[in-house]
Amino acid sequence: MGNQMTAQELKEMFLFVAGRVVENEEHLTEIDGKIGDGDHGTGMAMGFREILRELPACEAEHPEEIFKEAGTILLDTMGGASGVLFGTMFISGIVKRPLNDFLEIKDFAEIFRSSLDALKRRGKAKIGDKTMVDAFEPAVIALEKSAADRLALKEGLAAAAQSARAGMEYTKELKARFGRAKYFGEKAIGIPDAGAVSVWIIYQAMSDWAAENI
Ligand code: ADP
Ligand code: MG
Repeated sequence: MGNQMTAQELKEMFLFVAGRVVENEEHLTEIDGKIGDGDHGTGMAMGFREILRELPACEAEHPEEIFKEAGTILLDTMGGASGVLFGTMFISGIVKRPLNDFLEIKDFAEIFRSSLDALKRRGKAKIGDKTMVDAFEPAVIALEKSAADRLALKEGLAAAAQSARAGMEYTKELKARFGRAKYFGEKAIGIPDAGAVSVWIIYQAMSDWAAENI
């Protein structure tokens, strides 16, 4: 196949992503500790650990149900600003979509575009504000370009991961306008945004899983 992902495969991919996020707890805490209140790693690990616990039992026929379950777990367990933001990243993209038997690269592009738009409406952050949007938006644009170029799923996810990483690197140059990092002014320069690092970790893990498994 290579160009389609079933609900079962999506579930396995999200479990792999969750493992990667949990492994990075300390790293994320350290970054948020420098220009925030140091709770980002703990919050992310709490949410994604619960995905590792609960998602295996989710018997879904349609990939959209897996997105919904993962996002609901994050919303229910993470709490705080980033619980809503990362819950939105997984849930908001699928609410208005019909259920499918599998996802193609264009579906990933459409789903993450809708969730990015919802996240931006909710959080009011734009590119350049030193938030997760700086990694998420370039990743979505890369998915859209990959869909237009009819790339295979794993190539599209690799392009998205690369763009998320570039966006995360770009946050090092910025001062923050949102979240607690805004109180750190010039001190934030040189340090990436913790949420942008999380978005990159998520996309990198999706790409790494796809490279090996589809
Ligand atoms: P808190 O800021 O409440 O301590 P976390 O530390 O878990 O929450 O998450 C902080 C991350 O959330 C930031 O690094 C940033 O990427 C993201 N963030 C915060 N506010 C916004 C916003 N308004 N829009 C988009 N992302 C945001
Ligand atoms: Mg924090």
